[in-house]
Amino acid sequence: MNDEYDIDTLAVRAGTVRSQFNEHSEAMFLTSSFMFGSAAEAAARFKGEQEGPIYARFANPSVGMMETRLAALEGAERCVAFASGMAAILATVMGLMRAGEHIVASRSIFGSTVQLFSNILARFGVETTYVSPTDPEAWRAAARPNTKLFFVESPSNPLTEVSDIRALADIAHAAGAWLAVDNCFCTPVLQKPMALGADIVIHSATKYLDGQGRVLGGAVLGSRTLMEGVFTFLRTAGPSLSAFNAWIIFKGMETLPLRMEAHSRNALALAQWLETQPQVARVYYPGLPSHPQHELAMRQQTSGGGIVAFELEGGREAAWKLIDATKLVSITANLGDTRTTITHPASTTHSRMTAEQRAEAGIGDGLVRVAAGLEAVADIQADLARGLE
Ligand SMILES: *Cc1c(COP(=O)(O)O)cnc(C)c1O
Repeated sequence: MNDEYDIDTLAVRAGTVRSQFNEHSEAMFLTSSFMFGSAAEAAARFKGEQEGPIYARFANPSVGMMETRLAALEGAERCVAFASGMAAILATVMGLMRAGEHIVASRSIFGSTVQLFSNILARFGVETTYVSPTDPEAWRAAARPNTKLFFVESPSNPLTEVSDIRALADIAHAAGAWLAVDNCFCTPVLQKPMALGADIVIHSATKYLDGQGRVLGGAVLGSRTLMEGVFTFLRTAGPSLSAFNAWIIFKGMETLPLRMEAHSRNALALAQWLETQPQVARVYYPGLPSHPQHELAMRQQTSGGGIVAFELEGGREAAWKLIDATKLVSITANLGDTRTTITHPASTTHSRMTAEQRAEAGIGDGLVRVAAGLEAVADIQADLARGLE
């Protein structure tokens, strides 16, 4: 149905499988294994001669529905689901690379991804070079004969730097590497990396795909050929998504287009208002004309997304005061929730970096990140205004 229908339709219809009862809302399959009609049928399943599930580490109808729906939204041939976003990132490398190979990654990626690449994969002989997300020439220069993977997040967290996905895909392909895009912040509703030339799309389904802060989940998407290696890692190593979490994410995706539009609308209104506040030194939001990659963002994304960051004149003291004065928004590092969340990156998500590394990355002590939720924007604004005064 993927070519036939709009993304709004795919979000509520793609992937549905019904049981013999013809339930309207899709069933959840809480089972670890599946039965066979006979010894011969069991043998045929194990040999791969007959289609059908065997064991939930690698196949479960609830997980299958979630995978099919997300693949339809991203326009990918295949999706492989995982227990978390980090498991999905690990599986991408373990499924597609070997010792002695090299990754070029944006220096503005999720903290645990940096730890995974630098501290864990390095022990197994996979080396990573970090470059600027906004300078494609730096990626070209960093590529080596053994480079297998380019890895980027766009927009980045928390400064919302926007990378030129098409340019990075072309450079990756010329270097004989694949481009993987962590599309967590945009979701396929705002940005479709594969249509821009990316080979692999990765999600933390924990964020906007669930959308209500309930469960962990992750996914890797790409061609059938590439996903074979990723699936083999899942099947063997077992960082599998549970049927319950898959069902939650599957149902959450039904409202994804509506939610992403509302998150973006609220974030833009907050960004525009923050830009007029004298206590705010700078606002980072791709939907603002003042954003350095505004034009690229508007070409590559359908809107600016739900994440806004801003630097306060008063440094850390002002940032903490603003956060502590809120009564409505939630003080938590999570994002992609119906509820607005607020965080101070320098002392939380980016506290494992040294002060120099933070300064180099542009994460100031006065920086605050807001992930706009679905409350009335006037109420969110009033809550932030309390702490600005
Ligand atoms: C949260 C997040 C991850 C990790 O996902 P988990 O589901 O927490 O494992 C990866 N990338 C980005 C951009 C994220 O925001």
